[in-house]
Amino acid sequence: MSFRRACVIGHPVAHSRSPLIHRHWLSELKIEGDYLRQDVPPDQIAAFLKNFSASGYVGANVTVPHKEAAFKALQRADPVASYLKAANTLWLADGDLHGMNTDVYGFLAHLDEAAPDWNQHENIAVVLGAGGAARAIVYALIERGVAKIHVVNRTLPRAEVIAAEFGKNVVASAWSELPKRLREGSLLVNATSLGMTGQPLLEIDLKPMKSTATVYDIVYVPLETPLLAAARKRGLRVVDGLGMLMHQAVPGFEKWFGVRPQVSGTLRAVLLQDLGAKGRP
Ligand code: NAP
Repeated sequence: MSFRRACVIGHPVAHSRSPLIHRHWLSELKIEGDYLRQDVPPDQIAAFLKNFSASGYVGANVTVPHKEAAFKALQRADPVASYLKAANTLWLADGDLHGMNTDVYGFLAHLDEAAPDWNQHENIAVVLGAGGAARAIVYALIERGVAKIHVVNRTLPRAEVIAAEFGKNVVASAWSELPKRLREGSLLVNATSLGMTGQPLLEIDLKPMKSTATVYDIVYVPLETPLLAAARKRGLRVVDGLGMLMHQAVPGFEKWFGVRPQVSGTLRAVLLQDLGAKGRP
């Protein structure tokens, strides 16, 4: 196979850990290729994607704020991207720009791995946030047949839009209703940017949650967010955001470089070192 290059497109994009992941796999699998960061401002994204075949890349990941613009630029989209109207993984085939959304896959793959029995009993999920990540997570939970999903968001109308779109199992709630929702929930997912380095803390009281509940924070900088620390202290099962990041990268790498890579402890260690974090036993 000839030398191939892929990239992650975002704005800003300097913080993205995707190059670490793909370069690790390229080196591990001894594949000739590279993976770069491509900063594209919002006013240039449509033109950049229209001429993507001239960029020299075989494909790309797409991060904030360009996932919706990427979907609009596609000639072909997978069913998940078509539903969410957002794409995070692009590739060229026969001159056409194809795309898919692997956030749903990444979210579920890591949850299944870290908490294999999470969906064995009737589940009630509480999703914090109503942005792009929250929509992908609600899609994922519905796909797995979760009985009820409470979407709790600072801006209630955004949660109401998600509830209206996904149907009667999805209920929008104001932040003030959180204690009541936590009492019901068997799975809590933070899909806001709260708790991320540089953002305000996510300060919620987990006391109302059942002792069997699972808490999943998709924020991974820092790896041990204050929410996960509080959940651990309360004795709840915790799932961190790094696994979602690693798993969502798998389908793109396979499309661009022709081999399905493994999410392994070695890859996790590479990312932990970069984040300056320690792994948990
Ligand atoms: P987004 O579309 O910008 O949505 C941000 C969400 O956070 C909104 O619900 C927003 O509420 C809420 N929020 C922001 N500041 C807040 C505040 N001060 N108080 C209360 N709520 C606040 O972002 P996104 O793309 O969904 O991403 C959300 C987070 O998930 C980011 O931290 C991102 O890094 C992370 N993420 C991780 C992965 C992974 O692989 N682990 C993948 C995707 C995303 P309003 O609607 O009220 O503004």
